[in-house]
Amino acid sequence: MYSGVNLRLKTLHNSIMQIEKLSAVEIVAKVNSGELTATDCTQHFLDQIGKLNDANGGFLCTTEQSALPMAEAIDADRAAGKTLGPLAGLPVAVKDGICTKGHTTTAGSRMLSKFVPSYDATIVERLKSDGAIVIGKTNMDEFAMGSSTENSAYFPAKNPWNHDHVPGGSSGGSATAVAAEMAPVSIGSDTGGSIRQPASFCGITGLKPTYGRVSRFGLIAFASSLDQIGPMTHSAEDAALVMQSISGHDKHDSTSAVKNVPDFSTKLNQPLKGLKIGVCLEHFGDGLSDAVRKSVNDSIEVLKSLGATCQDIQLPYTQYAIAAYYVIAPCEASSNLSRFDGVRYTNRVTTDNLPDMYSQTRGEFFGNEVKNRILLGTYALSSGYYDAYYLKASKVRRMIKNDYDKAFESVDLILGPTVPSTAFKFGEHAADPIAMYLADIYTVSANLAGVPAISIPCGFDDDGLPIGLQLQAKRFDESTLLQAAHQYQTQTNFHKQRPR
Ligand code: GLN
Repeated sequence: MYSGVNLRLKTLHNSIMQIEKLSAVEIVAKVNSGELTATDCTQHFLDQIGKLNDANGGFLCTTEQSALPMAEAIDADRAAGKTLGPLAGLPVAVKDGICTKGHTTTAGSRMLSKFVPSYDATIVERLKSDGAIVIGKTNMDEFAMGSSTENSAYFPAKNPWNHDHVPGGSSGGSATAVAAEMAPVSIGSDTGGSIRQPASFCGITGLKPTYGRVSRFGLIAFASSLDQIGPMTHSAEDAALVMQSISGHDKHDSTSAVKNVPDFSTKLNQPLKGLKIGVCLEHFGDGLSDAVRKSVNDSIEVLKSLGATCQDIQLPYTQYAIAAYYVIAPCEASSNLSRFDGVRYTNRVTTDNLPDMYSQTRGEFFGNEVKNRILLGTYALSSGYYDAYYLKASKVRRMIKNDYDKAFESVDLILGPTVPSTAFKFGEHAADPIAMYLADIYTVSANLAGVPAISIPCGFDDDGLPIGLQLQAKRFDESTLLQAAHQYQTQTNFHKQRPR
Protein backbone atom coordinates (compact mmCIF):
# COMPACT_ATOMS: atom_id res chain seq x y z
CA MET A 1 0.00 0.00 0.00
CA TYR A 2 2.74 2.44 0.97
CA SER A 3 4.77 1.43 -2.04
CA GLY A 4 1.71 2.06 -4.24
CA VAL A 5 1.45 5.59 -2.87
CA ASN A 6 5.20 6.07 -3.27
CA LEU A 7 5.04 4.88 -6.83
CA ARG A 8 2.22 7.31 -7.63
CA LEU A 9 4.12 10.16 -5.97
CA LYS A 10 7.21 9.27 -7.95
CA THR A 11 5.23 9.16 -11.21
CA LEU A 12 3.70 12.53 -10.38
CA HIS A 13 7.13 13.95 -9.56
CA ASN A 14 8.58 12.63 -12.82
CA SER A 15 5.74 14.03 -14.89
CA ILE A 16 6.06 17.45 -13.22
CA MET A 17 9.78 17.27 -13.96
CA GLN A 18 9.03 16.90 -17.72
CA ILE A 19 12.05 14.71 -18.26
CA GLU A 20 12.02 15.27 -22.03
CA LYS A 21 12.66 19.00 -21.45
CA LEU A 22 15.77 18.43 -19.33
CA SER A 23 19.19 19.14 -20.77
CA ALA A 24 21.84 16.41 -20.77
CA VAL A 25 23.73 18.32 -18.06
CA GLU A 26 20.56 18.42 -15.92
CA ILE A 27 19.80 14.72 -16.45
CA VAL A 28 23.27 13.69 -15.34
CA ALA A 29 23.06 15.97 -12.27
CA LYS A 30 19.63 14.63 -11.29
CA VAL A 31 20.66 11.00 -11.69
CA ASN A 32 23.72 11.72 -9.60
CA SER A 33 21.73 13.39 -6.83
CA GLY A 34 19.07 10.68 -6.88
CA GLU A 35 16.26 13.03 -7.87
CA LEU A 36 15.79 10.96 -11.03
CA THR A 37 16.66 7.32 -11.54
CA ALA A 38 18.47 6.17 -14.67
CA THR A 39 15.70 3.60 -15.14
CA ASP A 40 12.87 6.16 -15.06
CA CYS A 41 14.78 8.44 -17.38
CA THR A 42 15.54 5.67 -19.88
CA GLN A 43 11.97 4.35 -19.74
CA HIS A 44 10.64 7.86 -20.24
CA PHE A 45 12.58 8.38 -23.47
CA LEU A 46 11.68 4.88 -24.69
CA ASP A 47 8.03 5.84 -24.10
CA GLN A 48 8.58 9.07 -26.02
CA ILE A 49 9.93 7.05 -28.95
CA GLY A 50 6.91 4.74 -28.70
CA LYS A 51 4.57 7.74 -28.87
CA LEU A 52 6.34 9.89 -31.44
CA ASN A 53 8.40 7.70 -33.77
CA ASP A 54 5.58 6.62 -36.10
CA ALA A 55 5.01 10.25 -37.03
CA ASN A 56 8.66 11.34 -37.06
CA GLY A 57 10.60 8.31 -38.28
CA GLY A 58 13.78 9.22 -36.42
CA PHE A 59 14.57 5.75 -35.11
CA LEU A 60 15.09 2.53 -37.07
CA CYS A 61 14.97 0.53 -33.84
CA THR A 62 15.22 0.86 -30.08
CA THR A 63 17.71 -1.05 -27.96
CA GLU A 64 15.68 -1.38 -24.78
CA GLN A 65 16.80 -4.99 -24.20
CA SER A 66 20.24 -3.67 -23.28
CA ALA A 67 19.27 -0.13 -22.25
CA LEU A 68 17.04 -0.99 -19.30
CA PRO A 69 19.42 -3.47 -17.63
CA MET A 70 22.19 -0.91 -18.02
CA ALA A 71 20.06 1.78 -16.40
CA GLU A 72 19.18 -0.59 -13.55
CA ALA A 73 22.87 -1.31 -13.03
CA ILE A 74 23.56 2.41 -12.69
CA ASP A 75 20.77 2.79 -10.14
CA ALA A 76 22.16 -0.18 -8.23
CA ASP A 77 25.65 1.35 -8.27
CA ARG A 78 24.26 4.58 -6.90
CA ALA A 79 22.35 2.75 -4.18
CA ALA A 80 25.59 0.97 -3.26
CA GLY A 81 27.35 4.33 -2.90
CA LYS A 82 29.63 3.89 -5.91
CA THR A 83 30.88 6.89 -7.87
CA LEU A 84 28.96 7.21 -11.12
CA GLY A 85 30.44 7.97 -14.54
CA PRO A 86 30.26 11.50 -15.99
CA LEU A 87 27.34 10.55 -18.23
CA ALA A 88 25.54 8.21 -15.83
CA GLY A 89 21.91 7.73 -16.81
CA LEU A 90 22.05 9.84 -19.97
CA PRO A 91 20.03 8.27 -22.81
CA VAL A 92 21.79 8.57 -26.17
CA ALA A 93 20.54 7.80 -29.68
CA VAL A 94 23.21 6.53 -32.06
CA LYS A 95 23.24 6.86 -35.85
CA ASP A 96 22.75 3.49 -37.49
CA GLY A 97 26.04 3.75 -39.38
CA ILE A 98 27.87 3.24 -36.09
CA CYS A 99 28.43 -0.31 -34.84
CA THR A 100 26.61 -1.43 -31.70
CA LYS A 101 27.46 -4.85 -30.35
CA GLY A 102 24.49 -7.19 -30.54
CA HIS A 103 22.22 -4.62 -32.19
CA THR A 104 21.49 -4.48 -35.91
CA THR A 105 23.52 -1.80 -37.67
CA THR A 106 22.15 -1.21 -41.15
CA ALA A 107 23.69 2.14 -42.17
CA GLY A 108 20.25 2.82 -43.64
CA SER A 109 20.86 0.15 -46.29
CA ARG A 110 19.06 -3.04 -47.25
CA MET A 111 22.55 -4.45 -47.86
CA LEU A 112 23.07 -4.59 -44.09
CA SER A 113 19.51 -5.30 -42.95
CA LYS A 114 20.71 -8.33 -41.00
CA PHE A 115 24.17 -7.14 -39.94
CA VAL A 116 24.69 -7.48 -36.18
CA PRO A 117 28.18 -6.26 -35.19
CA SER A 118 30.18 -8.33 -32.72
CA TYR A 119 31.76 -5.21 -31.23
CA ASP A 120 30.92 -1.64 -30.23
CA ALA A 121 32.40 1.33 -32.06
CA THR A 122 34.97 3.05 -29.86
CA ILE A 123 32.67 6.00 -29.26
CA VAL A 124 29.86 3.68 -28.16
CA GLU A 125 32.23 1.89 -25.83
CA ARG A 126 33.38 5.21 -24.35
CA LEU A 127 29.84 6.54 -23.93
CA LYS A 128 28.77 3.33 -22.22
CA SER A 129 31.76 3.20 -19.93
CA ASP A 130 30.94 6.78 -18.87
CA GLY A 131 27.42 5.64 -17.96
CA ALA A 132 25.46 6.76 -21.02
CA ILE A 133 22.64 4.49 -22.16
CA VAL A 134 22.16 3.75 -25.85
CA ILE A 135 18.39 3.75 -26.39
CA GLY A 136 18.18 3.24 -30.14
CA LYS A 137 19.63 3.49 -33.61
CA THR A 138 18.68 6.44 -35.76
CA ASN A 139 17.55 6.65 -39.34
CA MET A 140 19.92 7.93 -42.03
CA ASP A 141 20.52 8.26 -45.74
CA GLU A 142 21.90 4.98 -47.04
CA PHE A 143 25.62 4.78 -46.16
CA ALA A 144 25.36 8.47 -45.15
CA MET A 145 24.94 9.60 -48.75
CA GLY A 146 22.36 12.34 -48.92
CA SER A 147 21.05 15.56 -47.44
CA SER A 148 17.42 14.71 -46.65
CA THR A 149 17.16 11.14 -45.27
CA GLU A 150 15.04 10.40 -48.36
CA ASN A 151 17.78 7.92 -49.31
CA SER A 152 17.10 5.73 -46.27
CA ALA A 153 16.24 2.26 -47.59
CA TYR A 154 13.58 1.95 -44.86
CA PHE A 155 11.47 5.09 -44.47
CA PRO A 156 12.21 8.79 -44.43
CA ALA A 157 12.74 10.65 -41.17
CA LYS A 158 10.59 13.78 -40.95
CA ASN A 159 11.28 17.29 -39.77
CA PRO A 160 9.49 17.63 -36.40
CA TRP A 161 8.81 21.32 -37.12
CA ASN A 162 6.79 20.43 -40.20
CA HIS A 163 6.31 16.89 -41.43
CA ASP A 164 6.08 18.00 -45.07
CA HIS A 165 9.73 19.05 -44.83
CA VAL A 166 12.89 16.95 -44.66
CA PRO A 167 14.95 16.86 -41.47
CA GLY A 168 18.15 17.10 -43.53
CA GLY A 169 20.71 14.37 -43.82
CA SER A 170 22.44 12.17 -43.67
CA SER A 171 22.06 12.19 -39.86
CA GLY A 172 18.41 13.21 -40.26
CA GLY A 173 17.16 10.60 -37.79
CA SER A 174 19.61 11.78 -35.13
CA ALA A 175 18.39 15.37 -35.60
CA THR A 176 14.73 14.32 -35.50
CA ALA A 177 15.33 12.26 -32.35
CA VAL A 178 16.63 15.28 -30.42
CA ALA A 179 14.32 17.93 -31.93
CA ALA A 180 11.20 15.81 -31.26
CA GLU A 181 12.38 15.11 -27.68
CA MET A 182 12.73 11.36 -28.23
CA ALA A 183 16.34 11.55 -26.97
CA PRO A 184 18.18 14.28 -25.07
CA VAL A 185 21.33 13.66 -27.08
CA SER A 186 22.24 11.85 -30.28
CA ILE A 187 25.35 10.92 -32.20
CA GLY A 188 25.79 11.65 -35.90
CA SER A 189 28.54 11.46 -38.47
CA ASP A 190 29.61 14.21 -40.82
CA THR A 191 31.45 13.69 -44.11
CA GLY A 192 30.32 16.85 -45.87
CA GLY A 193 27.77 18.35 -43.49
CA SER A 194 25.72 15.44 -42.22
CA ILE A 195 25.72 16.61 -38.60
CA ARG A 196 25.49 20.36 -39.18
CA GLN A 197 22.94 20.49 -42.01
CA PRO A 198 20.28 18.39 -40.21
CA ALA A 199 21.05 20.26 -36.97
CA SER A 200 20.35 23.50 -38.85
CA PHE A 201 17.12 22.15 -40.40
CA CYS A 202 15.81 20.81 -37.08
CA GLY A 203 16.79 23.68 -34.77
CA ILE A 204 19.42 21.88 -32.70
CA THR A 205 23.14 22.13 -32.01
CA GLY A 206 25.48 19.88 -34.04
CA LEU A 207 29.27 19.69 -33.84
CA LYS A 208 31.63 18.18 -36.37
CA PRO A 209 34.93 17.78 -34.54
CA THR A 210 38.40 18.25 -36.05
CA TYR A 211 39.39 15.34 -38.28
CA GLY A 212 41.22 12.98 -35.90
CA ARG A 213 39.66 14.27 -32.67
CA VAL A 214 37.15 11.41 -32.40
CA SER A 215 37.84 7.78 -33.26
CA ARG A 216 36.19 6.43 -36.40
CA PHE A 217 36.66 2.81 -35.34
CA GLY A 218 33.28 1.13 -35.80
CA LEU A 219 31.88 3.85 -38.04
CA ILE A 220 30.87 2.26 -41.33
CA ALA A 221 33.15 4.24 -43.64
CA PHE A 222 31.78 6.49 -46.35
CA ALA A 223 34.82 8.68 -47.18
CA SER A 224 37.55 7.91 -44.70
CA SER A 225 39.55 11.14 -45.09
CA LEU A 226 36.45 13.25 -44.41
CA ASP A 227 34.27 11.27 -41.94
CA GLN A 228 34.00 12.42 -38.32
CA ILE A 229 31.58 11.42 -35.56
CA GLY A 230 30.08 14.14 -33.37
CA PRO A 231 27.31 15.12 -30.93
CA MET A 232 23.85 16.47 -31.75
CA THR A 233 22.23 18.17 -28.77
CA HIS A 234 19.97 21.02 -27.72
CA SER A 235 22.84 23.20 -26.52
CA ALA A 236 26.58 23.78 -26.78
CA GLU A 237 26.90 22.97 -23.08
CA ASP A 238 25.46 19.50 -23.72
CA ALA A 239 27.71 19.07 -26.77
CA ALA A 240 30.74 19.81 -24.57
CA LEU A 241 29.65 17.10 -22.14
CA VAL A 242 29.36 14.48 -24.89
CA MET A 243 32.59 15.58 -26.59
CA GLN A 244 34.46 15.01 -23.35
CA SER A 245 33.45 11.37 -23.45
CA ILE A 246 34.03 10.53 -27.13
CA SER A 247 37.22 12.51 -27.89
CA GLY A 248 40.79 11.29 -27.82
CA HIS A 249 43.26 8.92 -29.34
CA ASP A 250 42.23 5.33 -30.08
CA LYS A 251 44.76 2.68 -30.94
CA HIS A 252 42.19 1.08 -33.27
CA ASP A 253 42.08 4.16 -35.51
CA SER A 254 45.44 5.24 -36.90
CA THR A 255 43.95 8.57 -38.03
CA SER A 256 42.83 9.51 -34.53
CA ALA A 257 45.15 12.18 -33.18
CA VAL A 258 47.56 11.63 -30.32
CA LYS A 259 46.63 14.91 -28.73
CA ASN A 260 45.55 15.99 -25.27
CA VAL A 261 41.83 16.45 -24.88
CA PRO A 262 41.13 19.72 -23.06
CA ASP A 263 38.37 20.04 -20.48
CA PHE A 264 35.74 21.42 -22.86
CA SER A 265 33.62 22.81 -20.03
CA THR A 266 36.31 25.15 -18.63
CA LYS A 267 36.18 27.70 -21.41
CA LEU A 268 32.37 27.70 -21.82
CA ASN A 269 31.74 30.50 -19.34
CA GLN A 270 34.61 32.73 -20.35
CA PRO A 271 33.51 36.03 -21.93
CA LEU A 272 34.10 36.58 -25.65
CA LYS A 273 36.00 39.83 -25.17
CA GLY A 274 38.91 39.90 -27.58
CA LEU A 275 37.62 37.03 -29.71
CA LYS A 276 38.16 37.73 -33.41
CA ILE A 277 35.48 36.42 -35.75
CA GLY A 278 35.87 36.36 -39.53
CA VAL A 279 32.69 36.73 -41.57
CA CYS A 280 33.18 34.57 -44.63
CA LEU A 281 32.12 36.69 -47.62
CA GLU A 282 31.84 33.68 -49.94
CA HIS A 283 29.04 32.35 -47.76
CA PHE A 284 26.81 35.39 -48.24
CA GLY A 285 26.55 35.30 -52.04
CA ASP A 286 23.81 34.31 -54.48
CA GLY A 287 21.46 31.56 -53.47
CA LEU A 288 21.31 32.55 -49.81
CA SER A 289 17.71 33.02 -48.69
CA ASP A 290 16.72 36.41 -47.22
CA ALA A 291 15.52 34.88 -43.97
CA VAL A 292 18.79 33.03 -43.42
CA ARG A 293 20.85 36.10 -44.32
CA LYS A 294 18.90 38.25 -41.86
CA SER A 295 19.15 35.81 -38.94
CA VAL A 296 22.86 35.25 -39.48
CA ASN A 297 23.46 39.02 -39.66
CA ASP A 298 21.50 39.43 -36.43
CA SER A 299 23.68 36.80 -34.78
CA ILE A 300 26.77 38.84 -35.69
CA GLU A 301 25.32 41.72 -33.65
CA VAL A 302 24.72 39.39 -30.68
CA LEU A 303 28.31 38.16 -30.79
CA LYS A 304 29.59 41.73 -31.04
CA SER A 305 27.50 42.70 -28.01
CA LEU A 306 29.28 39.88 -26.16
CA GLY A 307 32.64 41.48 -26.86
CA ALA A 308 33.75 39.71 -30.04
CA THR A 309 35.05 41.72 -32.95
CA CYS A 310 33.99 40.83 -36.48
CA GLN A 311 35.82 41.43 -39.74
CA ASP A 312 35.26 40.24 -43.29
CA ILE A 313 37.48 37.43 -44.51
CA GLN A 314 37.69 35.46 -47.72
CA LEU A 315 38.08 31.79 -48.53
CA PRO A 316 38.35 32.17 -52.32
CA TYR A 317 38.86 28.50 -53.16
CA THR A 318 35.72 27.40 -51.34
CA GLN A 319 33.83 28.14 -54.56
CA TYR A 320 35.34 24.86 -55.79
CA ALA A 321 34.58 22.94 -52.60
CA ILE A 322 31.42 21.21 -53.82
CA ALA A 323 33.12 20.12 -57.04
CA ALA A 324 36.16 18.77 -55.16
CA TYR A 325 34.02 17.07 -52.52
CA TYR A 326 31.81 15.32 -55.06
CA VAL A 327 34.91 13.82 -56.67
CA ILE A 328 36.85 12.90 -53.51
CA ALA A 329 33.93 11.53 -51.48
CA PRO A 330 32.62 9.20 -54.24
CA CYS A 331 36.19 8.00 -54.96
CA GLU A 332 36.68 6.98 -51.35
CA ALA A 333 33.16 5.57 -51.18
CA SER A 334 33.67 3.39 -54.25
CA SER A 335 36.66 1.85 -52.54
CA ASN A 336 35.10 1.57 -49.06
CA LEU A 337 31.89 0.01 -50.34
CA SER A 338 33.66 -2.67 -52.36
CA ARG A 339 33.66 -4.82 -49.19
CA PHE A 340 29.89 -5.22 -49.46
CA ASP A 341 29.93 -8.03 -51.98
CA GLY A 342 27.74 -10.70 -50.46
CA VAL A 343 30.66 -12.66 -49.00
CA ARG A 344 30.76 -11.16 -45.53
CA TYR A 345 28.48 -8.92 -43.41
CA THR A 346 25.74 -8.72 -45.94
CA ASN A 347 22.73 -10.10 -47.64
CA ARG A 348 23.46 -12.24 -50.68
CA VAL A 349 21.81 -13.17 -53.96
CA THR A 350 22.52 -16.86 -54.51
CA THR A 351 23.73 -17.74 -58.03
CA ASP A 352 25.85 -20.42 -59.72
CA ASN A 353 29.04 -18.42 -60.03
CA LEU A 354 30.99 -15.89 -58.00
CA PRO A 355 31.09 -12.88 -60.38
CA ASP A 356 27.31 -13.05 -60.79
CA MET A 357 26.89 -13.35 -57.04
CA TYR A 358 28.91 -10.15 -56.54
CA SER A 359 27.15 -8.11 -59.17
CA GLN A 360 23.64 -9.35 -58.44
CA THR A 361 24.07 -8.83 -54.70
CA ARG A 362 25.27 -5.26 -55.24
CA GLY A 363 22.62 -4.63 -57.88
CA GLU A 364 19.86 -5.90 -55.63
CA PHE A 365 20.78 -4.43 -52.24
CA PHE A 366 22.34 -1.02 -52.96
CA GLY A 367 19.99 1.92 -53.54
CA ASN A 368 20.21 4.32 -56.48
CA GLU A 369 22.19 7.12 -54.84
CA VAL A 370 24.78 4.66 -53.55
CA LYS A 371 25.13 3.16 -57.03
CA ASN A 372 25.42 6.67 -58.41
CA ARG A 373 28.34 7.44 -56.10
CA ILE A 374 30.09 4.12 -56.73
CA LEU A 375 29.89 4.68 -60.49
CA LEU A 376 31.15 8.27 -60.16
CA GLY A 377 34.01 7.24 -57.90
CA THR A 378 35.05 4.23 -59.93
CA TYR A 379 35.08 6.33 -63.09
CA ALA A 380 37.08 9.16 -61.49
CA LEU A 381 39.68 6.72 -60.18
CA SER A 382 40.02 4.71 -63.36
CA SER A 383 43.22 4.68 -65.36
CA GLY A 384 43.49 7.72 -67.59
CA TYR A 385 41.00 9.75 -65.54
CA TYR A 386 42.68 9.66 -62.13
CA ASP A 387 44.87 12.71 -62.82
CA ALA A 388 42.06 14.71 -64.34
CA TYR A 389 39.64 14.11 -61.49
CA TYR A 390 40.96 12.66 -58.24
CA LEU A 391 44.39 14.27 -58.38
CA LYS A 392 43.00 17.64 -59.41
CA ALA A 393 40.33 17.52 -56.69
CA SER A 394 43.04 16.68 -54.15
CA LYS A 395 45.03 19.74 -55.25
CA VAL A 396 41.94 21.93 -54.89
CA ARG A 397 41.45 20.45 -51.44
CA ARG A 398 44.94 21.63 -50.49
CA MET A 399 44.18 25.15 -51.79
CA ILE A 400 41.03 25.21 -49.63
CA LYS A 401 43.05 24.16 -46.60
CA ASN A 402 45.60 26.90 -47.38
CA ASP A 403 42.73 29.44 -47.47
CA TYR A 404 41.74 28.38 -43.97
CA ASP A 405 45.31 28.52 -42.67
CA LYS A 406 45.64 32.05 -44.00
CA ALA A 407 42.28 33.19 -42.58
CA PHE A 408 43.13 31.76 -39.16
CA GLU A 409 46.27 33.91 -39.04
CA SER A 410 43.98 36.89 -38.41
CA VAL A 411 40.81 35.44 -36.82
CA ASP A 412 39.87 32.82 -34.20
CA LEU A 413 36.57 31.74 -35.71
CA ILE A 414 34.88 31.86 -39.10
CA LEU A 415 31.17 32.63 -39.23
CA GLY A 416 28.44 32.11 -41.82
CA PRO A 417 25.15 30.34 -42.42
CA THR A 418 25.16 26.54 -42.14
CA VAL A 419 22.85 26.02 -45.13
CA PRO A 420 21.61 28.56 -47.72
CA SER A 421 17.95 27.81 -46.94
CA THR A 422 15.66 26.30 -44.35
CA ALA A 423 14.45 22.70 -44.67
CA PHE A 424 13.08 21.93 -48.12
CA LYS A 425 10.01 19.82 -48.83
CA PHE A 426 10.05 16.08 -49.48
CA GLY A 427 10.56 15.46 -53.16
CA GLU A 428 11.70 19.02 -53.87
CA HIS A 429 15.26 18.02 -54.83
CA ALA A 430 14.70 14.30 -55.28
CA ALA A 431 14.85 14.40 -59.08
CA ASP A 432 17.82 16.78 -59.22
CA PRO A 433 20.98 15.49 -57.54
CA ILE A 434 22.88 18.73 -58.20
CA ALA A 435 20.27 20.80 -56.34
CA MET A 436 20.52 18.31 -53.47
CA TYR A 437 24.35 18.47 -53.48
CA LEU A 438 24.18 22.29 -53.23
CA ALA A 439 22.58 21.98 -49.79
CA ASP A 440 26.14 21.19 -48.62
CA ILE A 441 27.72 24.26 -50.16
CA TYR A 442 28.77 25.90 -46.86
CA THR A 443 29.53 22.71 -44.94
CA VAL A 444 31.84 20.60 -47.13
CA SER A 445 34.89 22.86 -46.91
CA ALA A 446 35.31 22.20 -43.16
CA ASN A 447 35.59 18.47 -43.96
CA LEU A 448 38.01 19.08 -46.83
CA ALA A 449 40.21 21.24 -44.55
CA GLY A 450 39.72 19.00 -41.52
CA VAL A 451 38.66 21.88 -39.24
CA PRO A 452 35.96 21.65 -36.55
CA ALA A 453 32.60 23.35 -37.15
CA ILE A 454 29.36 23.77 -35.23
CA SER A 455 25.81 24.65 -36.23
CA ILE A 456 23.60 26.40 -33.67
CA PRO A 457 20.03 27.65 -33.95
CA CYS A 458 19.89 31.39 -34.76
CA GLY A 459 16.34 32.09 -35.91
CA PHE A 460 13.22 30.96 -37.77
CA ASP A 461 11.86 31.78 -41.21
CA ASP A 462 8.30 33.02 -41.87
CA ASP A 463 7.05 29.42 -41.95
CA GLY A 464 8.48 28.72 -38.51
CA LEU A 465 11.35 26.56 -39.79
CA PRO A 466 14.68 26.80 -37.91
CA ILE A 467 17.80 28.54 -39.24
CA GLY A 468 21.36 27.54 -38.36
CA LEU A 469 24.50 29.60 -37.78
CA GLN A 470 27.82 27.92 -38.57
CA LEU A 471 31.06 28.67 -36.70
CA GLN A 472 34.35 27.09 -37.76
CA ALA A 473 37.61 27.04 -35.81
CA LYS A 474 41.27 26.11 -36.10
CA ARG A 475 42.12 22.43 -36.01
CA PHE A 476 41.64 21.04 -32.48
CA ASP A 477 40.09 24.26 -31.18
CA GLU A 478 36.63 22.87 -30.40
CA SER A 479 36.88 24.68 -27.05
CA THR A 480 36.58 28.09 -28.68
CA LEU A 481 33.72 26.90 -30.89
CA LEU A 482 31.83 25.61 -27.87
CA GLN A 483 32.62 28.75 -25.86
CA ALA A 484 31.29 31.10 -28.57
CA ALA A 485 28.23 28.89 -29.14
CA HIS A 486 27.50 28.68 -25.42
CA GLN A 487 27.92 32.41 -24.88
CA TYR A 488 25.58 33.06 -27.82
CA GLN A 489 23.06 30.67 -26.25
CA THR A 490 23.17 32.57 -22.96
CA GLN A 491 21.83 35.62 -24.86
CA THR A 492 19.32 33.94 -27.17
CA ASN A 493 16.58 31.36 -26.80
CA PHE A 494 16.32 29.91 -30.32
CA HIS A 495 17.82 26.67 -29.01
CA LYS A 496 15.11 26.47 -26.34
CA GLN A 497 12.21 26.48 -28.81
CA ARG A 498 10.53 23.14 -29.43
CA PRO A 499 8.28 22.00 -32.26
CA ARG A 500 4.65 21.48 -31.28
N1 GLN B 1 25.16 15.45 -48.14
C1 GLN B 1 26.51 15.08 -48.35
C2 GLN B 1 26.58 13.85 -49.21
O1 GLN B 1 25.58 13.42 -49.65
C3 GLN B 1 27.19 14.87 -47.03
C4 GLN B 1 26.87 13.58 -46.41
C5 GLN B 1 27.60 13.36 -45.12
O2 GLN B 1 28.16 14.27 -44.52
N2 GLN B 1 27.62 12.10 -44.71
O3 GLN B 1 27.61 13.34 -49.49
